[in-house]
Amino acid sequence: MNTFSRFFLVLISLPLLTACAGSAYKLPAVNDADVKTMQQKIADNNEPLVVYERSDKKNKQLVANIASRLAKNAKPLCTYAEYKSCYFQVEYNPGNEINAYASENYKITVYRGLLQYLKNNDEIAAVIAHEMGHHLANHNEEKQQNASAGAAISGILTAVVLAAANNNNPYYNSYQQQQDQKTLEDMMHVGAKVGALSYSKEQEREADLLATYLLSRAKYDLKKAGNIMVVLSKSSGEGSLSRSAFLDTHPAGVERVVAWQEAIDEINHNPSKLPYLSKK
Ligand SMILES: [Zn+2]
Repeated sequence: MNTFSRFFLVLISLPLLTACAGSAYKLPAVNDADVKTMQQKIADNNEPLVVYERSDKKNKQLVANIASRLAKNAKPLCTYAEYKSCYFQVEYNPGNEINAYASENYKITVYRGLLQYLKNNDEIAAVIAHEMGHHLANHNEEKQQNASAGAAISGILTAVVLAAANNNNPYYNSYQQQQDQKTLEDMMHVGAKVGALSYSKEQEREADLLATYLLSRAKYDLKKAGNIMVVLSKSSGEGSLSRSAFLDTHPAGVERVVAWQEAIDEINHNPSKLPYLSKK
């Protein structure tokens, strides 16, 4: 199959792969005025990112304790979200990567590189609860679809670039064509990886919403926990955190800071302490 037939194959399969499940829960409404006010507030805050040095032993202990406190309080949410096992395997990784992620069916990995920017138990709990939220909402299964879409998009972009590069090239021969084919396949693998790692904005907000309910049930301080959103949002434009894998996979936006506050308000007025279902 030549580059172009592959290109068209990829193109026609794309709409099938990008079907989006949408949020099962009513996400907090975020209005533009609140976003603008928050944007200004974050811009005015010039506090630099602080590094909190802790030993691996301490970090491991913190992650284990916080994960167990969250899991102990997750049962009603698990039942509600139909996350039947209600099991989370939370692991500490001493690596420098500024990252945390949910993988497979119940795994969560938190890196030292990210923990060093987190001030207290509430902020660490926010990160773990957010990843638990991805599991509760079954995002990893939805992500499999994104992975295929990621491969497709990456393949398309590569095919387009290669085609543009070789257009009008009289020396373009079959050897080069073979090489291009290989590049295209490699890029589809890269695309699958990137696609697999990224959640949609809606999925991020859904994980945040479930995280706020989980944190509230486990009696963490939601306001303090929400500071992680401010830190991430503040650093998404510049600085060391802006190059972190955590931000690549968890796009931070001022909208998320505002939505977090809205969620706190919602929980305070919601006697069931379970998120409202979205009307479809
Ligand atoms: Zn996330």
